[in-house]
Amino acid sequence: MGLPGGRLIADAYVYSSGSFDRTRIEVEGGLFRESDGEPSLKLALFEDVTDAHTHCADYGLRIPPGLSIEELVAPPDGLKHRHLRDSPKEVLSESMSRFARDARSFGCSAFVDFREGGAEGCRLLKESCPDAVVLGRPVSPEFDPGEIDEILRCADGIGLPSVSDMPSRYVEQVADAVRERGSVLAIHASERVREDIDAVLSLDPAFVVHMCEASDSDLLKCAEAEVPVAVCPGSNMYFGKAPPLARMQDMGVDIALGTDNGMLRPPDMAAEASLFVEVMESQGGDPAAVFGALSILNCKILNRNIRIGRERRRRFMAVPFEGVPEPGRVFRRGSSGTALVKRGE
Ligand SMILES: [Zn+2]
Repeated sequence: MGLPGGRLIADAYVYSSGSFDRTRIEVEGGLFRESDGEPSLKLALFEDVTDAHTHCADYGLRIPPGLSIEELVAPPDGLKHRHLRDSPKEVLSESMSRFARDARSFGCSAFVDFREGGAEGCRLLKESCPDAVVLGRPVSPEFDPGEIDEILRCADGIGLPSVSDMPSRYVEQVADAVRERGSVLAIHASERVREDIDAVLSLDPAFVVHMCEASDSDLLKCAEAEVPVAVCPGSNMYFGKAPPLARMQDMGVDIALGTDNGMLRPPDMAAEASLFVEVMESQGGDPAAVFGALSILNCKILNRNIRIGRERRRRFMAVPFEGVPEPGRVFRRGSSGTALVKRGE
């Protein structure tokens, strides 16, 4: 993590709408400005990189090998949920703050956290990391509009587990309440089994997460509904799965990138991007999609007048690379040397 210390001059490739603009910069103390000095390295810069899908509270959980998805993350009794239930607030809060610090040191401007534990869980995250984009999860056994109000008082929207994890009537009532309140809903979909995409899209989600088991027609429906898919190749790999990136690309899906559970992956978007490139290449797709995936969530969701996230932060993930700015070169080394930098005066 981090660029070499002191002042350095770099040939910078600033990614913007599908291509790189070249400029020369000097970087010092996390700030950069134009320069005409002699460059000592090349940096690719990506603006406002947002980790589209995280669960930061389980960052401190060390997991034994060999657990299935269900044993690990299925609500209500998967290992993760027991950890969240049984851990003191201070421990969870410390995990969240450490997660936020690490995300920043990896060059990430923001992360969208699917926070468990109802309104209380959301409040704890906001207290621990005021900058986090929080999507809360209701916990009442019966639908409770008051709970939705309470969550939305401190969260940016609602983030649900999959339609398979909750009674359909409950999910529909939550989605209706979110819509009435003009807020946003996001939901996990087709991670371990294929789910009914019509039912999922009828909830009017701002985006869905995973879609590992989706068919081509499911993906096409997401593309047509302009519902982006946040993919988490590292988390999927842990369970022996992979997101169908090349098929998503073929179907015209907007792909965003996330790191998922902190207990499985650190919030290292360059490492996640390098895995994205690997998976896309193995499926015969165009790995250049990774550049868009780092910014699409901002373009399509955070900045789209939907009440999720904030104003543009104008902070850049700086990634050292050699040669030409191709996906396999920029992200070949994962996170080594990435940093968060801001334009100075
Ligand atoms: Zn998730």
